[in-house]
Amino acid sequence: MNEFIRYSVIIPVFNEEEVIHETYRRLKQVMNQTGEPYELLFVNDGSRDRTAAILQAYSEKDPAIKLINFSRNFGHQIAITAGMDYASGAAVIVIDADLQDPPELILEMIKKWKEGFDVVYAKRTERKGETFFKKQTARLFYRILRASTDIAIPVDTGDFRLMDREVCNVMCRMTEKNRFVRGLVSWVGFRQTSVEYVRDERAAGETKYPLKKMLKLSLDGLTSFSLKPLKLASYLGGTLSLAGVLYMLIIFYMKLFTDTAVAGWNVVAMIQLLVSGVMLIVLGVIGEYIGRVYDEAKGRPLYIVSDCHGVKKKERGIRH
Ligand code: UDP
Ligand code: MG
Repeated sequence: MNEFIRYSVIIPVFNEEEVIHETYRRLKQVMNQTGEPYELLFVNDGSRDRTAAILQAYSEKDPAIKLINFSRNFGHQIAITAGMDYASGAAVIVIDADLQDPPELILEMIKKWKEGFDVVYAKRTERKGETFFKKQTARLFYRILRASTDIAIPVDTGDFRLMDREVCNVMCRMTEKNRFVRGLVSWVGFRQTSVEYVRDERAAGETKYPLKKMLKLSLDGLTSFSLKPLKLASYLGGTLSLAGVLYMLIIFYMKLFTDTAVAGWNVVAMIQLLVSGVMLIVLGVIGEYIGRVYDEAKGRPLYIVSDCHGVKKKERGIRH
């Protein structure tokens, strides 16, 4: 355990039994090329298939393999965070388990790191084998995020990246609950650069990010890094009030200077629907923020580790 580790590769896994053998093989192949000591830190995010058993068997044969088992599914972003808490390398790399992020790119990242960069993130120039819907919503999301935050969160960039120990230490000190890791890494600053790649198809299995999780991630991203949605109320309120005043003037005009009768109940119904719709949306936006404030206030642990293999479980295995 005390041996010096140069690279920690963090791999969050959730029901990845179909792909995990190949992931292990490819990662080993790439990391062996570095010729330096490394660890592969798998964070099992409450898998219900054989993922944990397979990884445990690997960790018994290969001391470079470490496995952290969560007590249940806590989510991808939290799994990455746990990985950072347990990583001991001088450089920390986060990669998906499904080989959509080519492990070979790690070598390029390491090169940049050795040139003196603290964060090297991988930017997707193209995404293969994903649905039109996923690509377009992701595209739109990154652009909305860019437009609404003041910090530069790079577009079309996932969590596949390398971080220097210094950056990882800072990340480990952040306690927020609804985490958007890629945003936090940008927020931290330091010298950051990118390498480009074409995102492959999933090697096997299905996406573990259904629409619900994607929506949660994007709302976490937006609410963690921007207060602009809260201003929506003022903008919409202003616009609607202005429209109301204009409409009132038209009615006055019709009443005073023309013989036309003023339109009836359907106009009222339309306005009612419009205004109550807008008010509910605004309430919902406020609710998203309040819910997150409530999560912070509760102060529950961020994750619970049930057991570890190849690495010592931290005290009580929880992190606040
Ligand atoms: N993942 C996880 N917990 C979850 C969902 C996903 O640890 O609740 C892991 C998953 O095993 C994979 C990575 O996060 O290593 C990315 O998930 P996936 O490839 O399914 O997402 P997509 O690429 O389809 O957006
Ligand atoms: Mg994937």
